Amino acid sequence: MSAPDRGRWLAPLLVCHDCGLPQVQTALPGPGLVRCRRCGAVLRRVAPGSVHRAVHLNLAALVLFAVANVHPFLDFTFEGRGQVVLLASGVVRLWQEGMPLLSGIVLAASLLFPLAKMLATLWALGPFLLGLRVVGQARALRLADALRAWAMLDVFLLAVIVAWVKLADIAVLHPGVGLWAFAAALLLATAADASLDHHDLWQRLAPQATLARLDPGTGPLLGCPACDQVVVLRRGLSRARCPRCGHAVHPPRAEAIARGWALLLTAFAFYVPANLLPVMTVTTLGRGEPSTILGGVALLVEHGMYPVAAIVFTASVLVPLFKFLALGFLLVTAQRGTEAWRRERTLLYRIVEFVGRWSMVDVFVVALLVALVDMGALATIEAGTGITAFAATVIATMVASASFDPRLIWNRPR
Ligand SMILES: [Zn+2]
Ligand SMILES: [Zn+2]
Repeated sequence: MSAPDRGRWLAPLLVCHDCGLPQVQTALPGPGLVRCRRCGAVLRRVAPGSVHRAVHLNLAALVLFAVANVHPFLDFTFEGRGQVVLLASGVVRLWQEGMPLLSGIVLAASLLFPLAKMLATLWALGPFLLGLRVVGQARALRLADALRAWAMLDVFLLAVIVAWVKLADIAVLHPGVGLWAFAAALLLATAADASLDHHDLWQRLAPQATLARLDPGTGPLLGCPACDQVVVLRRGLSRARCPRCGHAVHPPRAEAIARGWALLLTAFAFYVPANLLPVMTVTTLGRGEPSTILGGVALLVEHGMYPVAAIVFTASVLVPLFKFLALGFLLVTAQRGTEAWRRERTLLYRIVEFVGRWSMVDVFVVALLVALVDMGALATIEAGTGITAFAATVIATMVASASFDPRLIWNRPR
C-alpha cells in the first residue's frame, strides 16, 4: 500500500472507511486481509470462493431457522406442571400484556431482521451461482449489510443461557428441537458472514466506475460507505452520490458531532428510568415482587449464581456506562480536533461498535422469562416499564455509535 500519487493513479484505489485515507491497493498473493496503513482498519477481506460458501451456508441457516420457529424451543416444568414455549412465545406474551413496543423490538431483533438478512443475502448472492443477474441484487446486499448489527440471534442465544440458569433452581428445563435448530442456524449464518469478500462482491455487481485522471483542481477523494467505490468530490460541493450504488458520499461533517450528542443525551434520558423502574415482576402464589436491573443482579449474587450475575451486570450496567463515557470522549476530542491517540481512539470506536448490541441480552431474558413462567396463580412473570426504557437506551446508543463518523478522529470537520 502506498499513498496515491496525484496525476498518476490508475491502479485500484481504496479509501479507508475509518480514517478516510486514500491508498493504492497492491495485488494480494492469496486469501488474507488488506489493512489501512494509517489506522489498521480492515479495508478488504480476500476470500476466494466466499460467494458459493455464503449461499450454501445461508440456505442451510434459513431452513434451520424455519425449523427453530415451528418446533418447541424450550420445555419448562415447575411444581409438576409443564409448559412448552416456541421461539416467538415471548413476543406474543408481551403483546398480550399490553407492551406492543417491547414486543415489536423483540420480534424485529430475534426474528424479522435475522430472516430479512438471510433472504437479502441469498437474493444478492444466489444469482451468481446460476450465472444470472437479477434486479435489486445491489440493494439486497446493502440491506443485508445494514441489518448486520440489528439481527441479534447471537445475543438471543446468550439470553437463553442466562434465563436457563436463572430458572434452574426452581424448575426443570429441557431444550427442544427448535433450540438446537436455532443454535445451528446462528453458527451457519455467522460462518457465512465471516468469510464474505465485499470488495469482490461489489466488483461482480458493478465494477468500480473508473475515475478520470486527477487534475490539480480536483477535490478530495472519498470512499462510498456502502460499496467502497472511490468518488471525487468536485470543488464547491458538499456531497456526491455514489455512481455505483447510489449511497450519499460526503466528507466528515460538524453536524455529525451535534447529532451524536443529541442521540447520546436521548439514550441517557432513557437510562435513568431504565434503572429506577422495575424491569419485571415475579408473582408466586399471589405475592408479587417487582425487581430492577440492579435488584436482579443482587438476587443472582445472593443465590450464588456468580457467572450469570457477572454477565447480566456487564451487559446491562457496565456496557451502557462504558458506551456513554467512550462516545462522550470520542465526541469531545473530535469537536476539539485533538490530534493525540488517533489510532487508540479509532480502536475505542470499533470496540463501542462491537459491544453495543450485547446490552440487548437483558431485554431478551425478560421476554423469555415472561413466556416461560406463565403458570396462572402458581407463578407468573410480567415485564415492567423499566425494560422498555432499557431497550430504548440500547437502541439509542447503537444508533449514536453507528452515526459517529470515525473519520472525524483523523480530519477536522468541514
Ligand atoms: Zn484508515
Ligand atoms: Zn456506493
